[in-house]
Amino acid sequence: MFAKHENACYAAAKGGSSDDVQGVFISLWPKSLFSNPALTTLPHRCQGHWRRKALENQTDQQQSPQQDYSLSMAQANLRAIPLFVFSAAFVIAAYRITWGGGALRLAIITFIEPVAFWPAMIFGIVAHEWLHGIGWTLFGRKPWSVMRFGIHWKTLTPYAHCTVPLDVASYRVGGALPGILLGGLPAVIGVLLGIGWIAIFGAFFLAAAVGDFLVLWLLRSLPPSTLVKDHPSRAGCLVVTDDSGVSV
Ligand SMILES: [Zn+2]
Repeated sequence: MFAKHENACYAAAKGGSSDDVQGVFISLWPKSLFSNPALTTLPHRCQGHWRRKALENQTDQQQSPQQDYSLSMAQANLRAIPLFVFSAAFVIAAYRITWGGGALRLAIITFIEPVAFWPAMIFGIVAHEWLHGIGWTLFGRKPWSVMRFGIHWKTLTPYAHCTVPLDVASYRVGGALPGILLGGLPAVIGVLLGIGWIAIFGAFFLAAAVGDFLVLWLLRSLPPSTLVKDHPSRAGCLVVTDDSGVSV
């Protein structure tokens, strides 16, 4: 289904309309998109519209010029260490101030009990990566099949990777979601209600999300509609640009 404007574009180019119009434009990308005589007759506004549509559907294999907004996994982990310690310490200190040293000690003992600790860790790590995927596919309106999950073995870092470009606003939501839902939210609930192990779980997974927050900071200057592609091997993304190097 296409919006009125898209149908108008197609009509202008081909003198008709078709359900596979998007496929036609994508298959023409990148070389022949603008040299195709039928398409060069499109109004300028329509050309920009289809250029973005074609770029949005690029996969990892198709390369257009890109601006790099990424850090290596090792760099991201190294830069995250001070923030990691600070955010975990902040939550734990808040719990201790509110509920006292005895309650904190008890919370730590409960948290490190192996029967609870390992399932909680595995759940947290898997849920963290899934929440990236849910955020990116839901807000970026992409199918789940564009997501890839795995572990970067060199740095022992689990990752979620979106294989198609997204607008940076959706990319930011997906990037922030695990830190908020698995970190900030349980930390606040645990501290406010005095449920120690939830507070510590939150402290741990808030700290685990500082790499994601570093990436958000890296992207802070990009306008919300900027098209970005999640980096296939590094933390962060690439700004997708057209042939002239202009972001769309
Ligand atoms: Zn993450």
